[in-house]
Amino acid sequence: METDSPQATVAAVIGWPISQSLSPVIHNAAFRHHGDNWSYVAYPIEPGDAGSAIAAMRGGGLQGLNVTMPHKDAVADLVDELDESAESIHAVNTVVRMSDGRLRGYSTDGEGLLRAIRINANWDPAGKKVCVLGAGGAARSAIDAFTRAGVASIFVVNRTVEKATQAIGESKVAVVGSQRNIEECDIVFNATSVGMGTDESLVSPELLHEGQLVIDAVYHPLETRLLRDAKSRGATVLDGLWMLIHQACVAQALWLGREPDYQVMRNAAVRELAARGN
Ligand code: NAP
Repeated sequence: METDSPQATVAAVIGWPISQSLSPVIHNAAFRHHGDNWSYVAYPIEPGDAGSAIAAMRGGGLQGLNVTMPHKDAVADLVDELDESAESIHAVNTVVRMSDGRLRGYSTDGEGLLRAIRINANWDPAGKKVCVLGAGGAARSAIDAFTRAGVASIFVVNRTVEKATQAIGESKVAVVGSQRNIEECDIVFNATSVGMGTDESLVSPELLHEGQLVIDAVYHPLETRLLRDAKSRGATVLDGLWMLIHQACVAQALWLGREPDYQVMRNAAVRELAARGN
């Protein structure tokens, strides 16, 4: 695996497909801003082939690795150890080589979501009633993170009800919910792909109101139909780009031992989305 700048330390994201990933833009903006001689690249890796990136991490060709669909589960089995979140949801999105050479897998999506809530919405999720729409990878990260953050309850609302039951996992505060629960919740998080590239929302606007925090995992478009409806109903809103930025911040902190400037990363991502016409 090579880059244009031979002396640079290399980090990468693997996925299939990967060409639309914003991660290179986000990470490289922070590396430039902080004067790090690091370079971040995206590698298209076919399903079943994540082992090549793990081998590059073990061999020192890569110093940092992000993992996206469809490799998150496979990489959880390929690393030497898992942090609590990655273990809980059996999915890895960040790999770190420890000082003893062992590879540790992390799941930083949930922590990225919590940071976005605390830093950018200035909310503390502790004690709040939460509705998570969806039961896939983003939802499982969110249920795990909200549970650790001490929320009062989580309603998991999903098209396929059996998957909602599975996504609850070990959480003692999560139950399967329905659309009827949305109105009573303080925090509503759309962790489905509904609204990505379309003007659709799963939530009837009349269920949204002032005093709620409504968050979308989707960031294309930045202002989804859900967020537009929530704003017009007086709710506080948080777009999916904040979650993406903060999971990248957590990854950089793990690799480099320093916190990057999240605003620099966000600005670069917004510019890139605009250039792509999003
Ligand atoms: P996933 O594992 O494929 O799960 C997709 C979820 O969306 C499932 O719960 C699925 O329901 C639901 N869904 C899909 N189409 C639907 C429809 N037409 N009506 C109702 N429900 C529908 O995907 P994921 O990895 O969790 O990602 C979900 C979204 O979050 C994607 O848009 C992804 O890009 C985004 N995401 C953002 C971040 C971030 O940092 N901002 C991080 C991770 C993911 P069923 O179970 O019934 O199929």
